Amino acid sequence: MSLLKRLLAWFQPDTSRPLTQAWLAALWMGLAANWPLWKQLQSLSLGPGFMLAFAGMVTAATGAVLSLLAWPRLIKGVLVFLLLAGAALAYFIGTYGIVFDPTMVVNMVQTDVRETRDLLSWRLLASLLVLGALPIWWLLRRPRAPRQAFGKRLGGNLLAFGLGLLAMVVLALSVFATLSSTMRNHKSIRYMVTPLNAVYSVSIVGVRSLSGPKGPPAVIGADAHLLPRADGAKPPLLLLVVGETARAMNFSLNGYARPTNPELSKLPATQLFSMRDVTSCGTATAASLPCMFAPQGRTTFDADKPQENLLDVLQRAGLAVLWLDNQSGCKGLCDRVPNSFTTQLPTGAATLPAGLCNGGECFDEALLHELDKRVATLDPERLQRGLVLVMHQMGSHGPAYFKRSPPDLKPFQPECRSNELQQCPRDQVVNGYDNTIATTDRLLARSIAWLQTQQARFDVGMLYVSDHGESLGENGLYLHGMPYAIAPEEQTHVPMIVWLPESGALATSLQPGCLAGLRDKAASHDNLFHTAMGWVGARAEVYKPEWDLLAGCRR
Ligand SMILES: [Zn+2]
Repeated sequence: MSLLKRLLAWFQPDTSRPLTQAWLAALWMGLAANWPLWKQLQSLSLGPGFMLAFAGMVTAATGAVLSLLAWPRLIKGVLVFLLLAGAALAYFIGTYGIVFDPTMVVNMVQTDVRETRDLLSWRLLASLLVLGALPIWWLLRRPRAPRQAFGKRLGGNLLAFGLGLLAMVVLALSVFATLSSTMRNHKSIRYMVTPLNAVYSVSIVGVRSLSGPKGPPAVIGADAHLLPRADGAKPPLLLLVVGETARAMNFSLNGYARPTNPELSKLPATQLFSMRDVTSCGTATAASLPCMFAPQGRTTFDADKPQENLLDVLQRAGLAVLWLDNQSGCKGLCDRVPNSFTTQLPTGAATLPAGLCNGGECFDEALLHELDKRVATLDPERLQRGLVLVMHQMGSHGPAYFKRSPPDLKPFQPECRSNELQQCPRDQVVNGYDNTIATTDRLLARSIAWLQTQQARFDVGMLYVSDHGESLGENGLYLHGMPYAIAPEEQTHVPMIVWLPESGALATSLQPGCLAGLRDKAASHDNLFHTAMGWVGARAEVYKPEWDLLAGCRR
């Protein structure tokens, strides 16, 4: 072959070869599907030299990984999947500033249809078409790969893998000082590299679910029992409201300037205590919920080891337990206790108030619908010992905040009516979000009103806590789910509210004024398991009084 021919062949690669397809796709994804990453790097003003080196590194790393998969019957399928995933990720990262890590994979798997529906938009479709469908259309029209001996192809693929890695290392060394400081100061950048973030995260979750222990969850609190009740004391009724995506700083009870808690604010300060310094266990529902109901606490809780939870322990102690859900599910927490989902409410029935449920989705107040009837289905013997009622809210779940507040409860106007938050002025996004907080405020006030109707029978009280917070455009971030170590305070700082009527047995067993002292005490989801146990007089080996927020107040 003449030199000229060789040169021409270099510029006109044989695109039927899997390895060529892999590297062309790497170039496309590395440069085009990473536009949010380039935008972010540009905003850091690191110079064109660094940007060029970084783009080269991303492409080389992607090409190296794809080289290993460059086999005739495999590569096209892999690339179709990755191009679509990359196009979707480019949209979500560019739009909401989310990052993609293993936790996000778990969130996605556990998200239900209506939550997904909230995220769909024309811009997402456009991204899928341009960044995904276009190169896929080209790829699928490539002719069948030329025959090649297995050994030769393997050698070629390994060589390409090695060269990709080498290029990456050389480029990294060429800008090492800037690279290391940028990665240290902007940790979220590593999760923005598409589609390697998806490949990495899906692999981690896959390996975890394959290697994870199977079988029934480990028993906790096998020795659970109830303390004897004082003579004449009524059985306890604890209403545990699990909030969704509510952040502490938007509660007027915590000093927020707008009146987002008009109903709760009317309650006497001797009954209602809003704790202002509470942190969450995770930044997403799937991470927070199991941890909140576990005794271990955030730093030692291991989500990969299935175990029983607070509800199992309370049930074993002899109490009646009921989980009411207005969300995608209870993440396995309510598997072994009575539960009821608002999606199962008979819509259209005369008993269901008009507008409470629409199109398979209910406002949180549906949790209170015919509550007496639902409690009446529980074991009467257990009810005589006490009741723990859990309400799992839809709360402030985004990005379609406007769907979470009923038409008669939108005090903050105008609100963003789109799920594409960055298309709305920021104050409209905040208005929509604050309307959801006002909706939660009314839900809690009405829940307390219901509890007051139960006082003849039970010693009532309420504990509300949200699962995690939310970013509303601070530093360009929206939604939640950032890796905990780099998550902003908006996502980890959650509201926690205690309501206890001062005439109740529990309130009178506490030192006067002690609850008010809790308002500025640092607390977290770690306290939930132990506080709930202590609240209803349940004990077990796993109960830690030092983590029970009320223990220090008992006489
Ligand atoms: Zn959540």
